[in-house]
Amino acid sequence: MSLRSPDPTPWTRAGSDAWVARATRAIPGGVHSPVRACKSVGGQPLYFSHGAGAHLWDVDGQRYVDWCQSWGPLLLGHAHADVVRAVCDAAPRGLSYGACHPAEVELAELIASAFPGAEMTRLMSSGTEAVMTALRLARGATGRPLLVKFEGGYHGHSDGLLVKAGSGLVTGAQPGADASSAGIPAEIAALTVSLPFADLGAVDALFAAHGERIAAVIIEPLPANNGLLVQTPAFLHGLRSVCDRFGTLLVLDEVISGFRLHFGGYGALHGVRADLTTLGKIVGGGMPIGALTGPARLLELLAPAGPVYQAGTLSGNPVSVAAGLATLRILRDQPDVYARATEVAARLCDRLDAGGLPWLRATRVGSIVWPYFAEGPLPDRADTIAPPAVERYNRMYAAVLRAGHYLPPSAYEVMFASAAHELAHADDLARTLLDAAS
Ligand SMILES: *Cc1c(COP(=O)(O)O)cnc(C)c1O
Repeated sequence: MSLRSPDPTPWTRAGSDAWVARATRAIPGGVHSPVRACKSVGGQPLYFSHGAGAHLWDVDGQRYVDWCQSWGPLLLGHAHADVVRAVCDAAPRGLSYGACHPAEVELAELIASAFPGAEMTRLMSSGTEAVMTALRLARGATGRPLLVKFEGGYHGHSDGLLVKAGSGLVTGAQPGADASSAGIPAEIAALTVSLPFADLGAVDALFAAHGERIAAVIIEPLPANNGLLVQTPAFLHGLRSVCDRFGTLLVLDEVISGFRLHFGGYGALHGVRADLTTLGKIVGGGMPIGALTGPARLLELLAPAGPVYQAGTLSGNPVSVAAGLATLRILRDQPDVYARATEVAARLCDRLDAGGLPWLRATRVGSIVWPYFAEGPLPDRADTIAPPAVERYNRMYAAVLRAGHYLPPSAYEVMFASAAHELAHADDLARTLLDAAS
């Protein structure tokens, strides 16, 4: 079955281009978040008019199977009826109170119930905020200054986390020369050490020298922001035990992986206990949200219960909370959602494997798929991603788009299957990729 329209009208981006021209005058770089500029795939952004289920429509009226799904929040697909109904019920009762309301308590309870050891949840407006708060809390709880992250891990755009190598402390070199953004003082960057994934030796060496000064180790337990760099359970358990030995907090950043593979976090799937868990994306069901969950003994350090300050005008926003609650209740009560999304993702990988081009393949965990267009071992750290994989993805991107599949506009981003996708979408994408490859 072909999903392509029998109508031979040529693909066009006339409407999108008109908006691009206007946007570049009104918005820095024409976008409100950088990857959307589509620079790395050598294109220009499309402008979309609406989405439903697995699909997005551009302003020229062309339909795409959306494999990006807003970068992960839409496990149920675009505009799921129950989620939209919850939003439509909430909105007329007020878009923001800046005050307490019952549903925010229910969402806080529901989130904590899904993470072992978690008792309390603070809601915020973005994943960036959740991570920022987790790390301030870790510093407040331990009285220590240093943070450890991993190269290729993404934890939002706060100062201390936009540090790529930061190996100054390890090598004895001048620290702080490694901020991956302008505008971050060297003094701030110097407080974050970035280590390679999959290398416990590097972690041990750092802790041997500086362990008593390290407040927190933060990691995406399933790193999915620089390709899909799956770590071994042994690595994650190794982090847990080094943190225990030194009194350092382990923060699992589950903004993508939280509720993506089951009703809970990735850490629990492998028996890795977090001290703090950061969430976003799915817990807002497509509306802006961030959440920090963990034990009361830590969460009660947040103001006004404790001395670590954190606040937000729109925190616990009633419309976001309604979307999040509706989404999480579906995930709790209808676990077949996971099976459906996973089946589509598996089908795509299988069809690519059956295509007979050894390099044309994708790797997958549940419904998260990373097209990795190279032979050889799958990378588990950022510096082992083969450059041809990126070049091939970029080269094929435009043809795949024209054929009606919206892939993430960067080879380093993963695809998200939703429960609204169908097996036929996977089959058609596999065929499209095979065509584009040859
Ligand atoms: C998306 C993401 C963030 C940042 O969340 P925003 O809502 O974009 O601020 C943080 N950590 C991880 C792992 C993410 O994927």
